[in-house]
Amino acid sequence: MSRYVFLDRDGTLVHDRGYTHRLSDYRLLDGVAEGLSLLQSAGYRLAIVTNQSGIGRGLYTSDDFQDFQALLTRDLAARGVSIGAQYFCPHRPDEGCECRKPQPGLIRRACAELGASPGESWMVGDSETDMQLADRAGLRGGVLVLTGHGVRARGRLRAEVPAAEDLTAAARYILSAEES
Ligand SMILES: [Mg+2]
Ligand SMILES: [Zn+2]
Repeated sequence: MSRYVFLDRDGTLVHDRGYTHRLSDYRLLDGVAEGLSLLQSAGYRLAIVTNQSGIGRGLYTSDDFQDFQALLTRDLAARGVSIGAQYFCPHRPDEGCECRKPQPGLIRRACAELGASPGESWMVGDSETDMQLADRAGLRGGVLVLTGHGVRARGRLRAEVPAAEDLTAAARYILSAEES
């Protein structure tokens, strides 16, 4: 069984432009490469788990999404970070699917396919739904990053949910939780 850190994408790894998909809008957030390197060095594998309802809404295609993912994974690879897997929900909210976060479908699939151990894995994201997903999927925990929508989400979450300034701080939190 492997330990994973599941990562939201928009607002967590890259700037969230709202239905982000244009390659020209690609911008890695500060602290991301450093934070992911720390996690990777500590033995965590990394997987992206992202809602992409823009596909279901017809705003962009799954090929557009894959092109953006390729740019992100290439950029991270150049910085020594390897993204092991990616899972996305292409559906609109009204479709009632099992995979749109906070439904646990994507993480359940990831755990089955990757051999990830939920109880030793974490979720990092900038939204309330990412933290709800951590609970529903039975993960060790969720860490909110205060990038993207994170500051707004903070006010709606229980005070016990850990919050970190950026992905580097989130990684440090996870590594310190491991020691305790
Ligand atoms: Mg997000
Ligand atoms: Zn879905």
